Amino acid sequence: MSLKIYSTLSRKKESFKPLKKGKVNVFVCGPTVYDFSHLGHAKTYVQFDIIVKYLRHLGYDVFYLQNITDIDDKIIKKSHETGEDWKELSKKYKEFYFEDMNSLGVDSVTKYASATDYIKEIISQVKRLLEKGFAYKISDGYYFDLSKDEDYGKLAKRTTLNAEDSVSRIDENDEKKNPGDFCLWKFKKEGEPSWKTDIGEGRPGWHIEDTAITEKEFGSQYDIHGGGLDLIFPHHEAEIAQMESISGKEPLVRYWMHTGFLNINKEKMSKSKGNFSTIREALKSYDLGILRYLFASTHYRKPLDFSPESLENAKNSYERLKNICENLDDDGKLNEESLGDFEEAMDDDFNTPKALQVLWKLVRDDKAKGKYQVIKKIDEIFGFKILEKTKIELPQELKELADEREICRKNKDWKKADELRNKIKSLGYEILDGKDGWEIKKF
Ligand code: AMP
Repeated sequence: MSLKIYSTLSRKKESFKPLKKGKVNVFVCGPTVYDFSHLGHAKTYVQFDIIVKYLRHLGYDVFYLQNITDIDDKIIKKSHETGEDWKELSKKYKEFYFEDMNSLGVDSVTKYASATDYIKEIISQVKRLLEKGFAYKISDGYYFDLSKDEDYGKLAKRTTLNAEDSVSRIDENDEKKNPGDFCLWKFKKEGEPSWKTDIGEGRPGWHIEDTAITEKEFGSQYDIHGGGLDLIFPHHEAEIAQMESISGKEPLVRYWMHTGFLNINKEKMSKSKGNFSTIREALKSYDLGILRYLFASTHYRKPLDFSPESLENAKNSYERLKNICENLDDDGKLNEESLGDFEEAMDDDFNTPKALQVLWKLVRDDKAKGKYQVIKKIDEIFGFKILEKTKIELPQELKELADEREICRKNKDWKKADELRNKIKSLGYEILDGKDGWEIKKF
């Protein structure tokens, strides 16, 4: 089987064929940096990290681009609330975001592109939309004219907002030609950051930041665009409208991929609802491997019902898996059959839960040869770190018992040595006698 990807545009799984043989351009919407990232963000970014790592495993040369929204209404609002300069504020949270991604093992991104570094490209896009008659000017900025775009709605299959969308209102102004028209360039308002340009002083609208970035980095068409499903409308729909109107080329993106929400009590985890756990808080109690295991156990398009129990279940499964894997020896062979089963699961629209079943089956098969090499490949893609030996900080009492036992062994006092072994066992550890002294493993 070869790779199939479900595209939101066609609502079908389609055979994957990149625009240029062997090369894949992937763009995923990055965060708006005005607060700490939460576990909902972690789900989306870890799942895309696994997807990109799998594409690279298949041999594709992947350029994974992610934007950072570092100018936006939410940033300005927070800066007004806290009194912190908007630039300092967005810079600070951008750094926190990078730290969080690093702690989660998300290291597949080729380039992070901050919107404020693309003002020239944004202006160029607004101008071209004006020249082609797709945009117009009113008192507070330039807007996209939806009546000029018959295709608007082809991704979301709708043209109006509903509850799951990431915005609740589309740039309000009574002068707009059509209710859904969205802003491309917002004219300067008192107390807001702005750039002096030849179309007027102001700042970019949200949607045009992304098309300006992708046009500069990839050109007017590319392979994969991802994000959470709250971005389908109006954000991704607007991106299509902007870029296809400018270039006259369709489709802007060949495969549109959207992740399902991480929910809490059936509600999307979000900053605005206040029902969130930050990534850094969660990582204080749970390893990156546990969080990544939790996200890999749900298909990326499906919602994940998050609860303390779901985390504990992931922790238990992960620790069982790691306990077996970190003690495996490499026999230098590769179990082709299992690798084939893994690839078959992943080729089916990145079916990570099924791929995990393949991993468990292999791990449990006592007779299988070439396990280690397959597990290593899967581990590199999933980023679990299950082959890394866990460093356990032994309690002082345990070290003393082990040292005492070592002395007994040297003195050939086997009875006392056995008693001490049993004492260590009763504390939940196993003592092994290696040639360089004792080694202790947790049960
Ligand atoms: P934001 O900074 O809120 O615009 O979100 C950045 C990315 O994280 C977008 O792709 C969102 O769709 C995604 N995201 C936000 N909240 C969640 C959630 N609860 N579950 C899954 N993805 C989310």
